[in-house]
Amino acid sequence: MSSGTQAYLAQIGGVPVLVLKEGTQRAFGKEAMRINIMVAKAVSEVMKSTLGPKGMDKMLIDSLGDITITNDGATILDEMDVQHPIGKLLVEIAKTQDDEVGDGTTTAVILSGALLEEAEKLLDKNIHPTVIVSGFKRALDVATEHLRKIAVPVQRDDVNMLKKIAATAMHGKISETVKDYFAELAVKAMLQVAENRDGRWIADLDNVQIVKKHGGALEDTQLVYGIVIDKEVVHAAMPKRVVNAKIALLDAPLEVEKPEIDAEIRINDPNQIRAFLEEEENILKSYVDKFKALGVTAVFTTKGIDDMAQYYLAKAGILAVRRVKRSDIEKLVRATGGRLVTNIEDMTEADLGFAGLVEERRVGDEKMVFVEQCKNPRAVSILIRGGFERLVDEAERNLTDALSVVSDVIEEPYVLPGGGAPEMEVAKVVRQFAAKVGGREQYAVEAFANAVEVIPKTLAENAGLDAVDVLTELRHIHESKEDGWKYGINAFTGKVSDMWAIDVIEPLTVKLQALKAAVEAATMVLRIDEIIAASKLETGKGEEKKEGGEEESKSGSSSSSSLD
Ligand code: ADP
Ligand code: MG
Repeated sequence: MSSGTQAYLAQIGGVPVLVLKEGTQRAFGKEAMRINIMVAKAVSEVMKSTLGPKGMDKMLIDSLGDITITNDGATILDEMDVQHPIGKLLVEIAKTQDDEVGDGTTTAVILSGALLEEAEKLLDKNIHPTVIVSGFKRALDVATEHLRKIAVPVQRDDVNMLKKIAATAMHGKISETVKDYFAELAVKAMLQVAENRDGRWIADLDNVQIVKKHGGALEDTQLVYGIVIDKEVVHAAMPKRVVNAKIALLDAPLEVEKPEIDAEIRINDPNQIRAFLEEEENILKSYVDKFKALGVTAVFTTKGIDDMAQYYLAKAGILAVRRVKRSDIEKLVRATGGRLVTNIEDMTEADLGFAGLVEERRVGDEKMVFVEQCKNPRAVSILIRGGFERLVDEAERNLTDALSVVSDVIEEPYVLPGGGAPEMEVAKVVRQFAAKVGGREQYAVEAFANAVEVIPKTLAENAGLDAVDVLTELRHIHESKEDGWKYGINAFTGKVSDMWAIDVIEPLTVKLQALKAAVEAATMVLRIDEIIAASKLETGKGEEKKEGGEEESKSGSSSSSSLD
């Protein structure tokens, strides 16, 4: 197909009619699908080496030269800045997985790639995409049902179990010594924020504030029952520790307003200057008097506090913090039960928040303000410390995974052994089911079974094992042993083992969501029978266009369109 004629969709009396913009690229049917599948496979291939505890990291350098080193699926895909629409679709899948359950992003993407790889083989056998899609859906139902059946119920407050789950999410991603400590923090934090709303348990990650401060070691990371504000008390003469604090939360400056426009004030008499300054001072003083009258002992504002206001506040024995981030002040609002005040004159006692302790503490060589024993006991923070910024960033991603899986299990208390065990089970039952399906759809159901084995296979490969041997052994165990469903790959010893016995345990929801997301992605790709790509806008990148159009390409690749 040459790009020049692609835009002519219709003819009248042999004369082509221009329907689409000139330069539009089109690819049809199988060809379109092949291109899309190729892209999905390519993206999934990139992700494979990062799967599991023995997975490697990726170093990503953005266009500004900023470096991210990570093992986190969603982050890698995000930072990769994938251009192709199908690549973007996989990024979406990873994001959905991340939003829904917070872990299993790499798994979801690899599964999508594997499903499409299998689908491609079926397309070669002239099996229609709709048959493939319907086979995948039926297989997914069987898989879901079986996983629900073998999932093990746990107690929501079983701290030991929750710790194992948190640790599994961090296996190999963070040093072994810190892993257990982080797992413990994640469990404590999540149990603190968990609440039963109308009979349903909710453990909302948004209630766990994560604050990062590089310096110190990962072991210095601490759980704070309250909110941490990365600012210091504004004036040296103010108290640094206030107990039973009554807190004013302001979205208003404590400074004399500077005129918006350049205003000129003509003053002829020295008395006028004094009057003018006094007037300003009086306003600030009246604010502080108001605080005193209401019994305020701590003030947090998103805006500034000028020298004069600082002086009066200090004199009144009030602790004050300025330029607090909006997101932080919102957390304070929730934690202390106060209200954000924009007009100080209208402030009443009902607007004030409460905390048992507000204290400035030294963290590394900086100071931060800790607001603890808040009115709302569900406010917790984790202050992550670590030698350097990138380490702290990756620790945050790991900790977030740990918090997510704990939250998943609190919300839906069922777990599965990990290490590829659930995928082996799925492959087994789906294969058994395939035999009953018959017809062409049977091929699609079998293809699904083959595809899910990509997870144990990749875990084995990443652990440096012979994947064929491992899969053969696993299949045998899953079919013949009564407790075979627990068996997966111990990435550390390289042995096929009982994952339950070695505490590699994952939430049921992560597995279900990954399978579901993968089938959704594959379905979406398999439904596309035509790609119509507008010509790229000229941005002066001459070399991008050079080869475009000159090539009668069978693969549909042309460098001037986004098909390639
Ligand atoms: P994802 O983004 O999909 O969560 P991970 O890199 O976190 O990817 O890898 C998750 C996989 O690693 C899961 O299949 C999990 O069961 C497996 N896993 C975790 N710990 C171990 C272990 N010690 N041995 C084998 N597999 C493990
Ligand atoms: Mg993970």
